Amino acid sequence: MVEFKCPGCGWTHILNTDTGHRPAWAFNGDVDRPTLTPSINAWREYGGKRKTDRCHSFVTDGRIRFLDDCTHALAGQSVDLPSLPQTSQGT
Ligand SMILES: [Zn+2]
Repeated sequence: MVEFKCPGCGWTHILNTDTGHRPAWAFNGDVDRPTLTPSINAWREYGGKRKTDRCHSFVTDGRIRFLDDCTHALAGQSVDLPSLPQTSQGT
């Protein structure tokens, strides 16, 4: 599992990297310059009008690039991703 506090939407995105479970993301194993594929597409709906918050991003070489369909202030921008917390290495 890889998780990080997202600088765009403020949620903690938790990504499964165990290919035995779906969905699974490919992670390059570098906590300083992480690359995760495919894109992260998170959303939630709330309220009577079913307003939707969406966060859609690519993480490449330690940068997080938000796509234009994000609903937060960093839509369409790229920012540095803080270093990931060290993940415990299973054997
Ligand atoms: Zn996000």
